[in-house]
Amino acid sequence: MTSYQDLIEDIAGRIIEAKGCSVALTGAGISTPSGIPDFRSPGGLWSRIDPSIFDISYFHSRPDISWLYYKQLIEELEGKQPNPAHKALAQLEEMGLLKAVITQNIDALHQKAGNKKVLEIHGNAYRAVCTSCGARYSIYEALEKISRGKAPSCSKCGGLLKPDVVFFGEPLPYRVYMDSLELARTCRVFISIGSSLVVQPAASLPWHAHSSGASLVIINLQETPLDSLADIVIHDRVERVLPEIVQAIRRRIGVS
Ligand SMILES: [Zn+2]
Repeated sequence: MTSYQDLIEDIAGRIIEAKGCSVALTGAGISTPSGIPDFRSPGGLWSRIDPSIFDISYFHSRPDISWLYYKQLIEELEGKQPNPAHKALAQLEEMGLLKAVITQNIDALHQKAGNKKVLEIHGNAYRAVCTSCGARYSIYEALEKISRGKAPSCSKCGGLLKPDVVFFGEPLPYRVYMDSLELARTCRVFISIGSSLVVQPAASLPWHAHSSGASLVIINLQETPLDSLADIVIHDRVERVLPEIVQAIRRRIGVS
């Protein structure tokens, strides 16, 4: 039986050996310690708001109502801060040991923690995009444009603005997903963090990494469907595990 500390040391060793060719995939579980409930869990947003409000076909038929609820989602994210797991990933990038973070989250906490290379496969809650001309706005600009309950429109072309997040029934942003796939296929260590690995096609990224010969590490509170494929699995709190991996790396390479 391998001890918890042995697993931490094993992961640290693999990340060092990969010489910067490591990639992280993060899901809702990395943001729950920051007080952002998994939208799918009991008590999460979808238990209070009907998720069909964020269905793309609903959005196009009733954009005013979608925007009204979207405003609530933004208020829910307000003031949330990165936790030790986010900070550990920022440190790994800073040390030159992490190539990129691919995230399923829309909360922008990785950027807030200091990560520079972040691929947001489900978009970013703090941006809005014009559905006609593609112009981008900050979410606050868009929310200010809501007047008398009408969905905001583009200053350039008058088109309907939409939150720049992937709605249910919408495809992932093509370029971002293709870049993520490329990272998964070419990295040497792929670490899945706080993702239940059930939402496709994001959940296929660890599989691609494993099939291309990368070490697959899964860190999640609960079991995932890909645990049996992984080289190392830790079922524990990500905000505990990730800082310990960074500490182990620092000890090994002699940085305090
Ligand atoms: Zn426009």
